Amino acid sequence: MRVWADDARRAGRRIGFVPTMGFLHEGHLTLVREARSRCDACVVSIFVNPLQFGPGEDLDRYPRDEQGDKAKLEAEGVEVLYSPTGDSMYGAGFQTAVSVTEVTKGLCGAGRPGHFDGVTTVVAKLFNAVRPDEAVFGEKDYQQLATIRRLVVDLDLGIAIVGVPIVREADGLAMSSRNAYLSEDEREAALALSRSLSEARRALRSGERETAVLIDRVRAVLATEPLLQVEYTEIVDADSIQPVDRIDKSARLALAVHVGNTRLIDNTLLAAA
Ligand code: AMP
Repeated sequence: MRVWADDARRAGRRIGFVPTMGFLHEGHLTLVREARSRCDACVVSIFVNPLQFGPGEDLDRYPRDEQGDKAKLEAEGVEVLYSPTGDSMYGAGFQTAVSVTEVTKGLCGAGRPGHFDGVTTVVAKLFNAVRPDEAVFGEKDYQQLATIRRLVVDLDLGIAIVGVPIVREADGLAMSSRNAYLSEDEREAALALSRSLSEARRALRSGERETAVLIDRVRAVLATEPLLQVEYTEIVDADSIQPVDRIDKSARLALAVHVGNTRLIDNTLLAAA
């Protein structure tokens, strides 16, 4: 990977990079198109990173489709698919972690201890292998995007981080590799996530700025689906990911919900008028 990237850079080509865990869908491919439109060469990585899964999470059953992914990336004109093995990433004696401390405390960080250290450590390693000029991430994982932005600034990595809006199914469900776990009933119930976000945007448009009230509205929509178990619903500052009491400047409403054994996340911008 390093040799190819050095050659490409020497040839004056700017490298765009899209890190993924595979089982690619239209959300991932939108990131790829963004990277291709901004840079001369596009590298996509597929690595299901054991470091970012906690005990009892879905590492062992995480969906995979190597051949399908390869075909999709070829059809998009991606030059390099980088899929390192677990052993090559974390050899014997591996013991180093990269940690972003504050942005990772709330939301998913609270319910998944160690998750973001796993993310930032693997992303630092992938960045070192690819040394991209730009890297593209989805707003679907909003706290992850904020964390990577912080990482790149704090460690002077000199990589432009590009965020891409959430890509949704026609009925509003945010695309996710984990949607493959959902039964028909669970998928139907999961539509309440995007509905609840729309409800909050509607309440904000009609003048409601108190986050406690907006969150009540969100929870009321989620409560209409007995199959859903809410992990968190929070409204946070878009950069620091700290909770806010009022929508005075643009904020992010984020939620995590369990549907059966599947954990889903979604979020939306709450733009101050
Ligand atoms: P994953 O394979 O789930 O680790 O995701 C790889 C990248 O794709 C991350 O930057 C995600 O935020 C992004 N991504 C996943 N789903 C979506 C989506 N529905 N819309 C936009 N980006 C997404």
